[in-house]
Amino acid sequence: MGHAGGRNGPRREARAAQGPGGTGRAEARGHGPRKEARAAQEERVSREEGAVPVEGSEVLDEVAGWVAAGGVVVLTGAGISTDSGIPDFRGPNGVWTRNPEAMKLSSIDHYVTDPDVRRQSWQERLRHPAWTATPNPAHEALARMERDGNLTAVITQNIDGLHQRAGNDPAKVIELHGTIFETECLSCGARGPMRATLDRVERGEADPACEECGGILKSATISFGQSMNMATLEAAAEAAMFCRLFVAVGTSLTVYPAAGLVDVARNHGARVVVLNAAGTSYDAVADRVIREPIGTALPRIAGIRAAGG
Ligand SMILES: [Zn+2]
Repeated sequence: MGHAGGRNGPRREARAAQGPGGTGRAEARGHGPRKEARAAQEERVSREEGAVPVEGSEVLDEVAGWVAAGGVVVLTGAGISTDSGIPDFRGPNGVWTRNPEAMKLSSIDHYVTDPDVRRQSWQERLRHPAWTATPNPAHEALARMERDGNLTAVITQNIDGLHQRAGNDPAKVIELHGTIFETECLSCGARGPMRATLDRVERGEADPACEECGGILKSATISFGQSMNMATLEAAAEAAMFCRLFVAVGTSLTVYPAAGLVDVARNHGARVVVLNAAGTSYDAVADRVIREPIGTALPRIAGIRAAGG
């Protein structure tokens, strides 16, 4: 219910009051001391149970208080899905970082001009880990955040559909880079379920063409050299504009325009929290930076206490 608003000083409150995101904060005031007392009590209980307080525990509790005040928008990147077995392509140990040739598969120019690249891409899609991956505790934490009425939107750079599978309303999941669960024709734009096209590949069509117009089919994901969907971008910007808290999870915040959403949120008075294993280009401007593993930190932020201490 409310966060300890006074702890952040008058400057933060003044800034917050300017933007549309500032509405509703006043009502949260007054619950602060009670919340702090409860947090302190829980901390004491967990110590009595022999739990070792994790580093940054106070920060997690503080951010959990902000989440509980509602109006949260979360931006997720590859880091949230690695625990589900989906590889991070751009990270330090990423597929593309270690093997730049593999990146060719994801460039639209190569895809359109080289049938070999398309045939190889269809084989990659058949084997994609998204077909068997299941949501991990971090995805589940965001579903919980939505059930609690605190989450406005999940903006994701991932194509794996795990937020929807975890229980987030598909209408609240904004997929910046598209989805691997659908195909799109590069000529007529017709979309269809990926599974049906993969069935054709398995039946021997190495490079299945659009059944409407004969054009080149591709997964409905954004490849290098392909522009993003404007309506999707606008939805993401609007969500960032009207949130009270913007949490960036598992993203290095180096890929635009996704990273620019942090600026949109900040400029409209939202608090910004960065939760990522490595440093990001927005650490310096974030209100809080959390380095703990996403799989434990995000459930804490969502107000889920670890089972068994
Ligand atoms: Zn077509």
